[in-house]
Amino acid sequence: MNIRVSDISTQTVGRIDVRHVSISLGEGADAFEAVRDLHFAVAPGELVCVLGPSGCGKSTLLGALAGHLPVTRGQLTVDDQPILGPNPDRGIVFQQHTLFPWKRVRDNVAFGPKMRGVGKADRHGAADEILRLVGLGGFERFYPSQLSGGMQQRVEIARVLINQPRVLLMDEPFGALDAQTRSMMQEVLLDIWTKIPTTTVFVTHDIEEALFLADRVVVMSARPGRVIEDIVLPFGRPRHAELVTESEFVRLKRQILNLLKRPDDSLPLARLSPLGVNRT
Ligand code: ADP
Ligand code: MG
Repeated sequence: MNIRVSDISTQTVGRIDVRHVSISLGEGADAFEAVRDLHFAVAPGELVCVLGPSGCGKSTLLGALAGHLPVTRGQLTVDDQPILGPNPDRGIVFQQHTLFPWKRVRDNVAFGPKMRGVGKADRHGAADEILRLVGLGGFERFYPSQLSGGMQQRVEIARVLINQPRVLLMDEPFGALDAQTRSMMQEVLLDIWTKIPTTTVFVTHDIEEALFLADRVVVMSARPGRVIEDIVLPFGRPRHAELVTESEFVRLKRQILNLLKRPDDSLPLARLSPLGVNRT
């Protein structure tokens, strides 16, 4: 099996449509609406950050996109196919590690293809190739515990991307890392995403992280999470750490901070904001 390494402009699969999606959690008297009437699309190859405060339903949305959780109202599709359950076509990377501690790095990464019946030589070849892409060439025979937190997250990304998913879902994947490693991993992710252009929905509560990574930032309100803004970022690529000090970056950061500080009763906000905005 060959790993597709191509240019972002050639990407044609991986369109996501979130159509008026509401999701209720809990049962009976404990039931509550976690997200309400989310409505936006992600273009093939686009990197969208979903940004919102803790508890606003970001993981709930991602869980539904992964197929782990049903929607209560509305519809989720990838390339016009309804999401009915988990599928390697939609890979998810979490903050916490999900690697098998007893398997070597190569075998962790090759696990998906192994389950699909890909032969040993082929899956190991593909695993080694993708490990090189994420900067872990030479670590194929290591065990997860022998790697740093950042390196383990690279393995997590590699084991998802080896399945050549239409969609990469990331749930605060760098949240547990120290600031320096986190910043490095953001650059690593952008580098990987450039080499293997995959539609990416990256969830975070960190404004700087969203602004650094995304083509577009979808801002959610506090619970029940609603989309309060949808911002197309003006920054070019490749991006470097200095971006966070540029005036346009700082301006957008301040505007999003203000947006997230608004009390709930000032909703709907979409009419109020003067951001460089693309509303759905
Ligand atoms: P986020 O990822 O934005 O922090 P979540 O999607 O994890 O938010 O959670 C949304 C809301 O649902 C939160 O208020 C959380 O406490 C609650 N919640 C999450 N999972 C469950 C569950 N299994 N049962 C009850 N409440 C839950
Ligand atoms: Mg979460």
